[in-house]
Amino acid sequence: LPPQQFHASTQTVTIEGDDAHHLGRVMRAEVGDKVICSNGVDREVLVRITHLDKGAVTAEIVEELAMDAEATVDVWIAQSLPKGDKMELIIQKGTEIGAARFLPFLSERTIVQYDAKKEAKRTERWQKIAKEAAEQAHRNRVPQIESVYSWKQLLQRAKEADVAWICYEKEDGQQLKPAIQAALAAGQLGSGKQVLIAVGPEGGFTEQEIKQAEDAGFRSVSLGNRILRTETAAMVGLTCLFYETGE
Ligand code: SAM
Repeated sequence: LPPQQFHASTQTVTIEGDDAHHLGRVMRAEVGDKVICSNGVDREVLVRITHLDKGAVTAEIVEELAMDAEATVDVWIAQSLPKGDKMELIIQKGTEIGAARFLPFLSERTIVQYDAKKEAKRTERWQKIAKEAAEQAHRNRVPQIESVYSWKQLLQRAKEADVAWICYEKEDGQQLKPAIQAALAAGQLGSGKQVLIAVGPEGGFTEQEIKQAEDAGFRSVSLGNRILRTETAAMVGLTCLFYETGE
């Protein structure tokens, strides 16, 4: 469970908030029990609980653990905001499969009414979903949920990635598999590289958006001959990528 803090110098860990509640009340942990803690970024440890109360659990570090559940390549899922609670599903399943970051964005055919006033609360909920999915998948890192991008901002942000693919169901030239293999051969998918996969809304991307994306450095790719739901497309992209990279 990710604790709120690491006190590396004193070799103790403090677990607070929902995590403390979960440990004490739901899992019925007791003093002396051992659990794995991660700071969600770069450290994972085995700890022994030394003190439990309502608001906080303290534990001593028994062993440093290797960070080995993460893919070497960082995959960013850029998802045009879908209707209902589909974004939650995308974050949950994408986190289990291994996405490093989620970039929700608005595009021309985004159906959902976007209310910027609710942004902080929504991002907080999505971040919690990512944290819980990362815990259940035994990941070392919790994916980052970024705030909602406009289409233009997304095109700009994508320039920071080493490779950017835009999934387009009408693409008849480039399939994802050869695109991945070409990127692997070009050394764009090695350790520490960043790959962005963009998925459109229920109504898809417009031709103009595909053109703008290509001008901004994206490659348009097909995920096959069948039209996938928006919440399925990113999962297929992620799975194909990790299959090809062997992660
Ligand atoms: N109408 C369905 C829905 O409500 O989800 C399907 C929408 S599909 C147009 C949504 C997005 O998924 C597209 O913009 C594209 O990014 C991606 N997608 C779906 N099938 C795809 C395919 N075969 N190849 C590439 N991208 C695909």
